Amino acid sequence: MSVLIVGAGPSGARLAIQLARSGAEVTLVDRLLDPETHAYSSGALPLEAVSRLGLPDETIASTWKGWQLHDPSGLVHQWWAADDLGVVLDFGLLRSFLWREARRHGVELISGCRAALNKLTTEGASVRLHRRDGETSLHSVRWLIDATGARRDLLQQAGLRPNPADPLLQGIGVEWLLQADDRQSAAWRERISFFLGTTWIPHGYGWIFPMQGDRLKVGVCHLPPADRLTPGSLARPLQRLIQRCGLSACPVLDRHGGPVSSSISRSEPLAAGALLAVGDAASSANLLGGEGIRHAMDSADQLADLLIAEGMRGDSHAMARRYRQHLDGQQSWRWKVSGRLARRTWWGLDNSRADRRLERLIKGLSATATAPALSELLFDYNFERYGLRLLPYLL
Ligand SMILES: Cc1cc2nc3c(=O)[nH]c(=O)nc-3n(C[C@H](O)[C@H](O)[C@H](O)COP(=O)(O)OP(=O)(O)OC[C@H]3O[C@@H](n4cnc5c(N)ncnc54)[C@H](O)[C@@H]3O)c2cc1C
Repeated sequence: MSVLIVGAGPSGARLAIQLARSGAEVTLVDRLLDPETHAYSSGALPLEAVSRLGLPDETIASTWKGWQLHDPSGLVHQWWAADDLGVVLDFGLLRSFLWREARRHGVELISGCRAALNKLTTEGASVRLHRRDGETSLHSVRWLIDATGARRDLLQQAGLRPNPADPLLQGIGVEWLLQADDRQSAAWRERISFFLGTTWIPHGYGWIFPMQGDRLKVGVCHLPPADRLTPGSLARPLQRLIQRCGLSACPVLDRHGGPVSSSISRSEPLAAGALLAVGDAASSANLLGGEGIRHAMDSADQLADLLIAEGMRGDSHAMARRYRQHLDGQQSWRWKVSGRLARRTWWGLDNSRADRRLERLIKGLSATATAPALSELLFDYNFERYGLRLLPYLL
């Protein structure tokens, strides 16, 4: 079975490793030349995922045991656990690790190369690879995988569009890596901090995550309604946040960012002929907390199992049917509620009423929730205990 995976982020690289382990002939292509460049993701992850996914210490930039929420009026709320609740990954080092593992398992990894769909049938597909020096080459394979992230390059080139009844919630995240000193980083260490409300950024949220060596990742994400999708520059709200947090004097070591997008029910077409999508391209990200790394890797494991079981037989229709059944079977009510909450919260966050509602929600959580319970809410989508309080967001 020959497979070409376009995109060597968490989902594409993980899928390549799993397939190569089972003996498949795998080519993995990424337009990045160096896995450590354009480390666009903030990399917050619950602790459980680190061991489950086998991520080594070298990929971890820091650990955290507290949640810190800055509400719309600027009030700071904190929740602390006795033990670590999660990590902040160094996204560049995560990619580096995955690329090395892929090569070690026999994957042919072609970096610095953009792939474009050339031909797609039920029997196979061909893609054209564009190298940086202008050279191009054609590759034909039995299975082609779109792991290009939220841009969904290959799905788009194949003419597959989102389902209008289940539109994409989409946005852009921008993040700067700041070099703070011991004193400046003290208020942000051992916790992940979020900024919620229109005074920070309308239709979105901001964050500060700690990294190794007193470095801080400071970012904003903007998820406006579909009819207001031209956000303009996010540099201004980001600079404002940095200023309000007293971090303007910190040197900026890196600036990066990227798109995020997901549908709520994942009902858009994710397979056609020999083409299948995985990770962010297959709407695996959860946009309530802007979290997608572990879901992208889980989605890769699930597609690997299916390809290993079905792909050898080579029937595209059966494969597409099984993939759809699998995706539908995975839809828990929790996942859908968190998607609806995300859309309701980010699309509606553009006025003082929405700010006041957020303030009430945060105040309620302040009075009743513990740090582990907040993690359960935002990482396990455990909404039961907050049912009534969340109702205004769902209605
Ligand atoms: C600002 C920001 C902050 C985030 N913070 C977090 C966080 O704290 N925690 C978390 O879990 N998630 C976070 N996410 C989301 C997370 O990064 C993604 O869900 C995850 O990276 C998805 O993995 P993926 O492999 O599906 O796609 P990606 O990581 O996007 O990888 C896609 C790869 O495809 C390559 N590519 C694209 N098109 C082509 C082409 N035509 N040819 C060749 N190569 C191509 C790209 O270079 C890229 O390497 C964040 C996202 C953003 C934008």
